[in-house]
Parts: sequence; C-alpha cells; structure tokens
Amino acid sequence: MCGIFAYKGKRNATKTVFEGLKKLEYRGYDSWGMAFKKQGKIQTIKKVGKIAEFNKKIPENADYAIGHTRWATHGKVNEKNAHPQLSNNKKIAVIHNGIIDNYMKIKNILMGKGYNFKSQTDTEVIPNLIQENMKKSSFREAVKKSLKTMEGSFAIVAISQDSNEIIAAKKMSPLVLGINDNESFVSSDVAAFLSYTDKAIIMDDNEMAVIDEDIEIINLKENKKITKKAKSIGMNYEEAEKGGFKHFLIKEISEQEESIMRAINQDREFIENISKQIDNAFGVFFVSCGTSYHACLSASYLFSKIVKKHVNVVLASEFINYKHFLTENTLVIAVSQSGETADVLDAVRTAREKNSRIISIVNVPGSSLTRISDEVIPMNAGQEVSVLSTKSYTSQLAILTLIAYACAGKYEKGLGLIRKSAYYIKKIISNDRKKIKSLAKKLKDKRDIFIIGRGLAFPSALEAALKIKEVSYIHAEGLAGGELKHGTLALIEEGVPVIVISTSDSEANIENNANEIKSRGGFMIGFNSHESNIYDYFIKIPSLENMEPLITIVPIQLLSYYLALYRKCDPDKPRNLAKSVTVR
Ligand code: GLU
Repeated sequence: MCGIFAYKGKRNATKTVFEGLKKLEYRGYDSWGMAFKKQGKIQTIKKVGKIAEFNKKIPENADYAIGHTRWATHGKVNEKNAHPQLSNNKKIAVIHNGIIDNYMKIKNILMGKGYNFKSQTDTEVIPNLIQENMKKSSFREAVKKSLKTMEGSFAIVAISQDSNEIIAAKKMSPLVLGINDNESFVSSDVAAFLSYTDKAIIMDDNEMAVIDEDIEIINLKENKKITKKAKSIGMNYEEAEKGGFKHFLIKEISEQEESIMRAINQDREFIENISKQIDNAFGVFFVSCGTSYHACLSASYLFSKIVKKHVNVVLASEFINYKHFLTENTLVIAVSQSGETADVLDAVRTAREKNSRIISIVNVPGSSLTRISDEVIPMNAGQEVSVLSTKSYTSQLAILTLIAYACAGKYEKGLGLIRKSAYYIKKIISNDRKKIKSLAKKLKDKRDIFIIGRGLAFPSALEAALKIKEVSYIHAEGLAGGELKHGTLALIEEGVPVIVISTSDSEANIENNANEIKSRGGFMIGFNSHESNIYDYFIKIPSLENMEPLITIVPIQLLSYYLALYRKCDPDKPRNLAKSVTVR
C-alpha cells in the first residue's frame, strides 16, 4: 500500500522520481526515500513525513533513480525503516510494496550466514537475499532466484551497483511501466507518469521487467522472455490536478454532478444484460470493503424494494466464510474504486475457484480486478486522489441503482431519477455550503457524533459515520434508528449531536427515534426532506423517489470536509489510511 516510482532516461532522474512520488503520496505518506546511482555508487536519501512538505534541496542528477512513499506494515515509522532498504554490502537497494509473508524465515537463514539487519521491516530481507544470490550469479538472475524464495504479495524495484539495470517485479501488488522514447518509468499507478507519457505496459503477476536501454519482460513461472506492447492508457493527467481547489477532497466532492452523469453513461444493452444475469443467477453476492460496502448495502435495499430480488452483501474480508454457498451458477459483483483492494481480489479468487461468474465495478482502468473479472462495468468517476471515497461512492451507487431499475424493467425511469439527483446534488453543493460549514463549526469540538437512519437511510448513516470519522477523527457511529434503544441510547446526554437521516418512507418511524433522543438532551440535526421542530439544526434534502441515499451523502461529505479543516486535519491524507488498500 505504498507508492513506487522509478525512472531511467534523459531527464533529471532524482527530480523526476521526486515529482512522481509526490503524485503517489496518496498511497502512503508516513515516510519516503530514494536510491540512485551516481558515479558508479548507490546513494540514498530517506525522510520521515510527507514528501510534499520537504522543502530542502533534493540530490543532484543521477544515472537513474528509484523512490518510495511508505505505508508501514512492519516496523515503526522512522528513517531506518523507510525505503529503500540496502543490502549489507550497500551495493543493492530495494523498494517494496506489500508484505513478504515468510520474511522471518529468510531473515533467520541470512542471519545464520552472518547478515545484520538494521530495520524492523520485512523488506530488508530482499536486498540481502539478492546479495547472497549474487555470490553465484548476475544481478538479474539473483533477483529471479530471490523472487522464487519470497512468499506473499509484493511489488519490488531493485538496483545494484554492479549493473545498470532497474529490475521490477510483482505478485499481487500493482506495478505499471511507462514507456516513452529513450525513457522508462516504473510506477504503482499510471497517473504518476501521465504528464510524461500515456503509453503503458501493465505488468501481470509473476512478471519481472529488466530496464536498461530497452525493456525486457520475463514470465517468472515459465522462465522465458515475453513480448508485451505498450498501450495508450486513455486517462487525462489534468483530471488528477486540483483544478483551483484547495484540496482534492473538496474538488472531488464538487465534481459529483459530472461524475454521476459519466457513471450512468453506459451502454443500455450492456447494463440490461447484466441485470438479466442477476435475475438468472442462483445466488448473487455483492462483495466490497469500506465505502464500497455501504454502496452495496444501499443497493441491496433497492433490489428488495424495486426488484423484490434477494442479493447478499458481504464484506470482502469475510467472503471466504461464504465459499460453501458458491457454485458455477453464482454471480459475484465485486466493487472497488482502485481495483487493487487485496481483500476484494482475494474474494474474487475464491469465487473463481468455484467457477462462479465475476462482474466487477471498478474505477481504475487496467487494474488487477478488471483483469480477473468476466465483465467490467467502468465507474467513470475520473481519477480520485483524496484518500476519502466521495465521487467513487456516488458513481458506484448510481450504477447499482441503474442496474436495479434495469432489473425491474425500468431502465429509463432509473436513468431519469439519477440524472435529477445529480442536478439536486449540484444545487446542494452551491446553496447549502455555508450552512454546512457553520454546522461543522458547532460540531468541531464534540467527542462523538451519532447518525441514525432507517430503511434506505440506514446504509447512508453508516457511510456518513465513516466519512466523518476518517477525516476529522471525531468518533462517529452510524446506526439503524430502531437499534438505538437496544444499547447506544445510554450514551446520549445533554448536547450529544445526533444526525437524523430519513427518506420519505421512513420519516414517521425515525421521528419517533429522534424524539427518544431529544428527550434525553441530544442536539438534533436533521438531514432530510421534512423540517420539524425536533431539530436544532436542519439541512433540507429534496425528496426524490429512492434517490435519497445518492443525494444525502453529499452534504455529509461537505460536513466531513469542514470538520477536518476546523480540526486542522489534512483532508486529503487522513492519518493511518491509504487510498488503495493492497494489504490484507
Ligand atoms: N512491508 C513494507 C514495510 O512495512 C512495505 C510497506 C508498504 O507497502 O509501504 O516497510
């Protein structure tokens, strides 16, 4: 779950890697580092903290360079543990994304041979294993041999003092090569080199690339050279820029009218065919994590309400427990923004073993999930840089809503309602921003915020709580309205804020729950269509048949953004989190 960037070519290598890493910082940002070859020697720089905040001089030009932004899995956040990790003889430098499951075993063997370890990372075994293997072979053969020993999921890039090659390899972690005239890039993500070239080779698992004057790709399983053509990636670099906004988060919240419209701009026949598959499947499983899970949960209510079709919604990390229910007639719909979420990929592999059919909804083209699915529905949200999912959530929800309407034979109706929601969203963002900002000011010092909703508003309450807590670090809890009296009501006392989300068909019941809280002194905030004197603060949400989940989350995203600003939290890079969760 880190960012990898490497460069060899005509440009200033250290500067190019430094700029590339800045674009990848959303993937990990506890520390960063670079290794480069200069005057025949490997040199390194490592720093704790965010690369964007580094304002000292970076090292002068070099022959080539590799760099890393870390998201620690093994060992504290400090310079020693930052990547690159060096071999004992300091001749080999490695950057690594992922986890080497058997690193303790390798470490013990190497220690037995006299190697010392200076970091607490799993990564440090890699350069030392390569050093050991180089006793008998060339750099590239030694890397190959080392890769055979390593278990787990990883992407690595290595350089050696005794070679001019950059070697990159991957197994279940993303890695892409950027190709241009006389220059090559290695990156975790195409967006980081898009300003230089849009031609990419997407590496598959168990492939190793050897980058020198040319690029050689080796299939490690068959130990043979393969040919892979660079393809144009078709994504616009400008999309990734902040476009005048202070943070990516507010930029991405603000562009949801357009991203929703893009999401539903699908081929009608294609969507109707997917709805037929849902209809015919013997068991449908929506599989996802985090925000995408909430989109799926919301969709399951719609499938019940509009289609009267039962669909299962399972957290990807729990999916293994459902494997006994999978057959070749099962349909798995996997939803992931990045298409690299390790838990989702694992779940899909489980389903594959049972020959179930896989349809995925993914934002990043060419990502791992797209390559192991039978069919892919593109989210079309555009690049999402902020760690918080906002526009990808509404895109997922819009697509799932459209599929539900298609399943009910009401494609046109669904399309019309979603389009109208997109318009309402735009209006809320421009008209209610001030009101939401002053609500954030009132809530900024609160310890807890509770959010309740019933029916379609329940998944929205869960997503609202996730948005608030991940970016403002205020404890937030989403609950089904009916659940409060079964425990959490004990936490309500004078002034505790409770947000009440409702949809037109859950209004009456949720008002009862709201009254129960009000009589215990809760500070009541309504995010719904029906103003009432229960509320101490009210944000009006236009009522639109089954579309409230799509609309209501947007003002909550705004609230979360302003809470983060008031509390001096970085809205784009919440602590401990990373954009694409490539670890289990
Ligand atoms: N496991 C490695 C570490 O903790 C790499 C983590 C990452 O992907 O950033 O250093």
